Amino acid sequence: MKKTVRRNILDVRQYIPGKPIEEVRRELQLKEVIKLASNENCLGSSPKAIAAIKKNIGNINRYPDASSFYLRRKLAKSLGVSEDSLIFGNGSDEIIGMAIRTFVDPGDEVIIAKPTFLIYEIASQIQSAKIKFVPLAGDLKHDLVKMKEAITDSTKIIFIANPDNPTGTYVTKRELDRFFDGLPERIIVFLDEAYFEFAAYDRKDYPRGTNYLNKPNVILTRTFSKIYGLAGLRIGYGIADPEVIGYMERIREPFNTNLLAQAAAEAALDDKTFLNKTLKHVAREKEFLYSAFKKMGLEYADSATNFIVVDTKRDCKAIFNALLKKGVIVRDMKAWGFDTYIRVTIGTRGENSKLINALKEVMRKT
Ligand code: PMP
Repeated sequence: MKKTVRRNILDVRQYIPGKPIEEVRRELQLKEVIKLASNENCLGSSPKAIAAIKKNIGNINRYPDASSFYLRRKLAKSLGVSEDSLIFGNGSDEIIGMAIRTFVDPGDEVIIAKPTFLIYEIASQIQSAKIKFVPLAGDLKHDLVKMKEAITDSTKIIFIANPDNPTGTYVTKRELDRFFDGLPERIIVFLDEAYFEFAAYDRKDYPRGTNYLNKPNVILTRTFSKIYGLAGLRIGYGIADPEVIGYMERIREPFNTNLLAQAAAEAALDDKTFLNKTLKHVAREKEFLYSAFKKMGLEYADSATNFIVVDTKRDCKAIFNALLKKGVIVRDMKAWGFDTYIRVTIGTRGENSKLINALKEVMRKT
């Protein structure tokens, strides 16, 4: 088979997601397991979305609407963009892959920060793109100056996660304006705003990607997985010039977003109460965790998201495994090349306290 598989697939590093709760319960025979590993919404899902799912459950013998008509109409209105500048994906993950498959020929270059969200690298490898990595700046932020300097005639796409995952940092409006200044128009800037709502809530200098859609070739993505609490349904969206969207639509699987996801996402857009509750909760609990980390002498990156990356100053795999045994799933940052860091999603107060207590114990012994 090795001779048959496409050659570049041999080099693809498979994405390893955060461990599911059930798997840890089963494998370690634990009753109580908490998951702070995948940046999900710890308060659950938008109640309006849940009501919409219940209302639509009797319709799932039918294929979903391939055009996401109602969701498209509502989202376009709420964002103030035209309906043909939107594309929906099975999570925003899918839109990353679609953009690469639509615009990148094998051998073309993509520019990616290192480390950042791993899917950019994996999707680029699958397409046989040439990847240019640009290390993060000292403050764990995307180094937009260096990323711009890395452009060559073969560069097709530059990925910017804003805010970034796993660091939780963001580039400011000033930095992004400078980046766009004089940028060759042929280059696609992929702005990934999966955590947009969290950053926009309390960071005054956080730039809204929607303000850059007047530039040619900006693809902006957001998701219903995080703030709306719909990660399990898999639905996200991209916004770009209708011509760009039109090309991406050619490769989209017709029924890529399912019927319940469309209905839930549409309803969730109205759920300002759930949104605000989540934002307030995350802001408060972030302070709780920061203060606990400080007391433990641990350094962390100031996060504009619902997760925090923490330097344990110890082998992060060992910390990860020891926490797992205590029923706490976090993410070790080994795959990102941060050998002593773990990333923790902000949970409920009970979950956060459990994490801190477990971490204190584990750190004493590791
Ligand atoms: N971008 C970033 C930066 C992320 O952290 C994630 C989720 N881990 C995604 C995109 C993808 O999210 P989804 O596919 O659930 O929309």
